[in-house]
Parts: sequence; C-alpha cells; structure tokens
Amino acid sequence: MGNTVFEETLVGKIEQDEFMLSGHNACPGCGAALTVRLMMKALKDRAVIVIPASCWSIISGVNPLRCLETVVLHCPFPAAAAVGSGIKKGLLAVGDQDTQVVILAGDGGTFDIGLQGLSGAAERNEDILFVCYDNEAYMNTGMQKSSATPYGSASTTTPAPRIKPNPKKDIMAIMAAHQIPYAATATIAFPQDLISKVNRAIDLKGFRFLHILAPCPQGWGSPVEKTVTLSRLAVLTRIFPLFEIEDGKRYRLTYHPSVHLPLENYFGLQKRFSSLGPREVEQARENVDYYWGELCRKSGCSEDCCRYS
Ligand code: SF4
Repeated sequence: MGNTVFEETLVGKIEQDEFMLSGHNACPGCGAALTVRLMMKALKDRAVIVIPASCWSIISGVNPLRCLETVVLHCPFPAAAAVGSGIKKGLLAVGDQDTQVVILAGDGGTFDIGLQGLSGAAERNEDILFVCYDNEAYMNTGMQKSSATPYGSASTTTPAPRIKPNPKKDIMAIMAAHQIPYAATATIAFPQDLISKVNRAIDLKGFRFLHILAPCPQGWGSPVEKTVTLSRLAVLTRIFPLFEIEDGKRYRLTYHPSVHLPLENYFGLQKRFSSLGPREVEQARENVDYYWGELCRKSGCSEDCCRYS
C-alpha cells in the first residue's frame, strides 16, 4: 500500500473554522466524532440537529457543555425522521426558509429501529437531511449486531462461531427506491469529498440522505490511531464505495480506486474479523465483487473494474 495510493484520496483544501468544539464525550479515535466535525464545516451554525439514541447522544454532551455550535434536539430511537419533519414544518410556519434540519443517526437508528420513520419521511419527500454515521453495530450499548453489520463480523449477539452469516443491508438501494433527490456515501478519510457532499445536499430541496462510514475502535477492535487508515482501506478495498445517486436513478462513482487492495488489509486491522478463515474471506470477496460490479453497471463505468486484483 504505497503512499501514492493514500495521497490520491486527499485533494483540495479543508475549511479551517470549527463548529464542533473540543471536550466532547467520544472514545479516543472515534470515527463518528470526526464525521460530525467534518459535517459541521459545511453546516456551520445554520442547522437544527436531531439525534435519536446512539453514540452521538453521549458524544454531544449536555447543556451548557455540549460540543456542537448549533441547536441540538435529542429524541427517541425510532422517531428522528418524524421529529425532523415536524421541526421543518414549524420553521416554515414562522417564515424560516433557510435553517437546515439534519437528522444525525447511527446505523441502528437508520437501518433498523429508525427505518419506518425514515421511509415515511423519504416517501413524503420531506425537506430534511438525514445523515447516518455507520459504525456497523449498536456500539453505544455494547456492540450488538445491527443490519448494517457486515458479513463476517463478530458482535456480542452473533452466535458461535461469531461470524455474521449474511451481508450488510443495502440501505442505499432502499433510499434509491424512494427516488429522493439526493443520496450519497462518504467517509472520513476523504474529507473534501464528505464536505462537498454535505454542501451538495444543503443546496438541494427535499429529502436528502448521506451514508457515512465511521470506524469505531471500541467495537471494531482496532488501534485508535488506525481509524482514518481503516476508513481509507474500506474505500480502497471497495467494501465501502464512494458514490452518489440523483432522483433514485442517476448513479455516479465519486471515487474510483486506481488500485483495488485486498480485503485482508482491511480485515487484518480489526479484531471483529479475527475468526475469518480463507473460505469466509473468499465469500466476503465475492460479496464485494458483486456489489462493485452492480455499482459499475448502474453508474455506466466503462473501466475493467469488476476484476479483483
Ligand atoms: S463506541 Fe465507537 S462510535 Fe461510539 S463513541 Fe466509542 S469509538 Fe465512537
């Protein structure tokens, strides 16, 4: 994994102003904290942030010590999209056309417990931005499996041999099926891409969805200093591709890795994949190849990128 492979992920300057303050309550090396730090560089102080139960319920802190420089509202696990829809209606009723309403939910509050409300708000095309920071399990309550947990991962609720037997739910396909104006994936190792996708979402009206991979050293069993490396490896191994979808129809790969790194580079840094044998790694590779091939087909990519190298 040469430096050039990593350097190509960093293009452009990043806004220097901070709208997430130090002194937050995240674990060391938390990818969810960095996700929001980057997201806030686009949102600044012009948003109402709605947080259902998740790690960010803790990370944000309590008044007057909260770490976000904007309005924050905590709500029950399944209710975030409905609460956000109501807040937006209230803002419009008092003539505020500009304040963004942003749901900040973990994968449990998006893929599982929040899915019904999310689907309803997406179908109604509510004018809100739903951001899922995905740490791939219920980390706040002890690393229980969610439907965002990937194939092969251990969790505290995965029965012996502690290998999740089925793949991660395809939340982007579900959002595309709602034909919302904008949906995109992002992750912290590509900060310019993440910020530009938040900016893109802010500029649009209607329901917008961002799926952001946020490595979690606590739950993934990874070294705290490897959080950004893991985020990069997720993209360079293609287990988490970067792409966007307009109106549920137009797919576009926003980053095409010039080298497809082996999945072992990604799995090897995480204890949650330590039970995987060669057969399971091969199955994971097949899953990745299939998903990548589908993505290339939908986005009209003409490169020979379905071949694993
Ligand atoms: S459990 Fe994971 S996602 Fe939650 S605060 Fe700690 S490192 Fe971040």
